[in-house]
Amino acid sequence: MAKNHHHHPATTQWINQAEQLLNDFQETAIAVRHHLHKYPDLSGEEENTVRYLKKILQQQLPDRTEFWQPLPNALIIALPATNRSNPNPEHQAIALRADLDALPIQEQTQVEWASTHPNKMHACGHDVHTAGLVLALIVLARLPRTKQLVAIFQPSEERAPGGAYQLIQQGLLQRFPIQIIGAGHVDPNLPLGTLGIRAGPFLASAHEWKITFRGEGGHATLPHQCKGNALTCAIQFWQAIQARHTHWHPPLEPILLHLGILQAGSAPNIIPGQAFLHGTLRTFSDEVRARILKEMVAVARQVATLHGCTFEAHLPTGYPVLVNDPYYTAHWRKIVGQLPWFQGRIQEVPPRMGADDFAWYTQHVPGVYWRVGVRTDEKATHYPLHHPAFLPSDEAVLWMARAFLSAFFAFQHIAPENQDENKP
Ligand SMILES: [Zn+2]
Repeated sequence: MAKNHHHHPATTQWINQAEQLLNDFQETAIAVRHHLHKYPDLSGEEENTVRYLKKILQQQLPDRTEFWQPLPNALIIALPATNRSNPNPEHQAIALRADLDALPIQEQTQVEWASTHPNKMHACGHDVHTAGLVLALIVLARLPRTKQLVAIFQPSEERAPGGAYQLIQQGLLQRFPIQIIGAGHVDPNLPLGTLGIRAGPFLASAHEWKITFRGEGGHATLPHQCKGNALTCAIQFWQAIQARHTHWHPPLEPILLHLGILQAGSAPNIIPGQAFLHGTLRTFSDEVRARILKEMVAVARQVATLHGCTFEAHLPTGYPVLVNDPYYTAHWRKIVGQLPWFQGRIQEVPPRMGADDFAWYTQHVPGVYWRVGVRTDEKATHYPLHHPAFLPSDEAVLWMARAFLSAFFAFQHIAPENQDENKP
């Protein structure tokens, strides 16, 4: 299995056909990229993006393609296998995912196809992800497939709990027998056409936390008539958290506990009746996350009690840890690394404190998540993700498509892990 595929004539033929098809349809895909970039939709509002993609793909895909829309802003496209020789009918589907949403940022690039929607921009490269999956899908529809392909055009990656969470709730994993799911993200730190990967925990869990303290409030010159001060609670709470949190996790456990918003008060001579804190917690362990959030609530209670105030904690569902399945990641790396596109162009990358709702899929089915380098000599490709001037080149769409194609190729050749007789 998967041995010396680069020497196998079938592999060479597959790659040559794929490259020819990429060439034939790259203009279509780049036009899609420009359209998406020009008319970006925010998380939860991707209806127009989906309508547009559906129109394009209905023209380009064969008649027996299944279009499924569990939500008006999501589009799932299933292409059946062309060859049903696979002996494991319960593991017939390979899923590839692209995220659709833009960010509330005012674009600062000067390209002709810059965003025409004020304060909305594809500043995280999701336009490249989507156009790349469109191109891969058009190509794969014209190549032999031993397994079903499920292409997931997913909304709301940027907004917790994430579109992945919503699609799983809508029954995505019951509808398709997904053996393995893959996705890629553009990376301005890696050179164009290279891939970054890591097995095991790759991206952090991300959970927002919101705490509100409430007191009576009153005139600053009459504090003795006023039981407590909500702003004092907020300050003491955050100081206590910073001093206490090291007691809630082992020192080598990576955590990031951040306060991003503190809102209180309306005038210098008023005792604020309310103080609001809003931050994010990143960890690589569900246990550590649960412990820290529990202790934070306990501290809020103690501080509120001390000052005669009340408090309210809101801990919305966030994203779990993104774990790359070690078995599939090892095979992905070996097989993709043998294809001419990515030979010698895959590197191990460190874990990141960033998050991606792709993590939800990896809680249920094996997943592989890779980074696609987009950095060139152009300065626009050097800015960090979410920067108003970040702009991968159109060539990034082709590399994104090649990464999806390579992953599909690799996954077709990997037997499910529980099939001992097929283990390498
Ligand atoms: Zn992103």
